[in-house]
Amino acid sequence: PYLSGSEIRQKFLDFFAQKGHQILPSASLVPEDPTVLLTIAGMLPFKPIFLGQRSPDFPRATTSQKCIRTNDIENVGRTARHHTFFEMLGNFSFGDYFKEVAIAYAWELSTKTFGLPKERIAVSVFEEDDEAFAIWRDQIGVSEKRIKRMGADDNFWNSGPTGPCGPCSELYYDFHPERGDDEIDLNDDSRFIEFYNLVFMQYNQDAEGNLTPLQNKNIDTGMGLERMAQILQQVPNNYETDLIFPIIKTAAEIAGIDYAKADEKTQVSLKVIGDHVRAVVHLIADEVRASNIGRGYVLRRLIRRVVRHGRLMGISEDFTPKVAETAIALSESAYPHVRQREETIKAELQREETRFLKTLARGEKLLQEIIEKVKKAGKTEIPGNDAFTLYDTYGFPLELTQEIAEEEGLTVDLAGYEAAMKKQTIRSQSAHETIDLTVQGSLDKLAENIHATQFVGYTEAVANAKIE
Ligand code: ATP
Ligand code: MG
Ligand code: MG
Ligand code: MG
Repeated sequence: PYLSGSEIRQKFLDFFAQKGHQILPSASLVPEDPTVLLTIAGMLPFKPIFLGQRSPDFPRATTSQKCIRTNDIENVGRTARHHTFFEMLGNFSFGDYFKEVAIAYAWELSTKTFGLPKERIAVSVFEEDDEAFAIWRDQIGVSEKRIKRMGADDNFWNSGPTGPCGPCSELYYDFHPERGDDEIDLNDDSRFIEFYNLVFMQYNQDAEGNLTPLQNKNIDTGMGLERMAQILQQVPNNYETDLIFPIIKTAAEIAGIDYAKADEKTQVSLKVIGDHVRAVVHLIADEVRASNIGRGYVLRRLIRRVVRHGRLMGISEDFTPKVAETAIALSESAYPHVRQREETIKAELQREETRFLKTLARGEKLLQEIIEKVKKAGKTEIPGNDAFTLYDTYGFPLELTQEIAEEEGLTVDLAGYEAAMKKQTIRSQSAHETIDLTVQGSLDKLAENIHATQFVGYTEAVANAKIE
């Protein structure tokens, strides 16, 4: 059945409320936990409970948690399912029910409440978790061929280098059951999408990687709201769901473009805008301000990517506040504080957009000078070093340099550009660690970096826009 994003969110929360879970509001994107940059999962606000440092007010809880995963930024617009900002629906048990019940709830919710056909669900379990395998097969009745054992990379969940963790079991939706059950590959994007992860949170991992049992056996789960919307609304990707598409439409209207008829590259730009505008609206609403460090840097980088992709489609100015209006309207029913902070959100976006456009203008001027020099010398190629300086110092993305060069009948020395980029990456890596929030070993370093240094963790990815 078609369900709107809001209906899916509500049905999830209601289902677990009926199963004795307390509905709690989303925590801020800015976590209380000082070692973590941004909220990356629904479990984060409950970390002290899992660790036994705080006792829970309720044995069972359910939330729809705002999340940001910067490690997925390069996937945005390129895969059908990854965002920087998304909502994670979760049910949590603090030493109350465990594996068997969590699996039974997940099955009932997926097949009854959301009406997914049983034969379209496949599941993964941690390779050593015979118990979970047996529950899926014997109690739920999933055929063995559709239960895949996977290694720790996929099926042992960690919120960071240390802290609560455990084996997990994931539910996947099958877009092509007609392809048969032999040799199922759950990582095949063209066929499956992961939509729900059940984590059997039962260990604590220390800095040396040792696992010790937690005081309690807990359940931590996460279902991507946008992914469930994609499945139930039968659209080809998360971006075309009612949760995001109106933002894309607004941006397309400003650019005078029809999304459906646009080429692939333009559709990617529109998807990036659809994703990032939600992220920046919520970041600002949660009191993050653009800056050159930590969260402020994440915000600045996201805004600049929005502006840049807008420019790639020919939009020149005052564009981010208008697109943000659509994102604010979409989020206000579930997150009323966003509308209350509307003025601040729009002012912050306007200021950052203007500032970035000035930097870009300086880069354009320099590029004109470079083009003249190249032409005078009777050459047809812009040196890679120059293209890199434009990018690195002026925030001038390679694609823009190429476009303008093309208009002048010139090309860009890509090999030279890459070489310059590589040199710079090596330079900056020796100075700073690259930071990936969900990869082991990174969170502790991040905590140091946030306070100590300019946050340059995303080096090459900064894709597109370096700080002035
Ligand atoms: P994937 O393998 O697709 O990258 P994941 O295994 O990294 O997902 P989990 O950490 O298990 O994701 O998060 C729980 C759920 O949150 C996922 O099953 C998915 O529905 C959703 N989710 C995770 N990352 C994203 C993202 N970047 N954008 C949208 N939804 C996401
Ligand atoms: Mg992932
Ligand atoms: Mg996964
Ligand atoms: Mg997962």
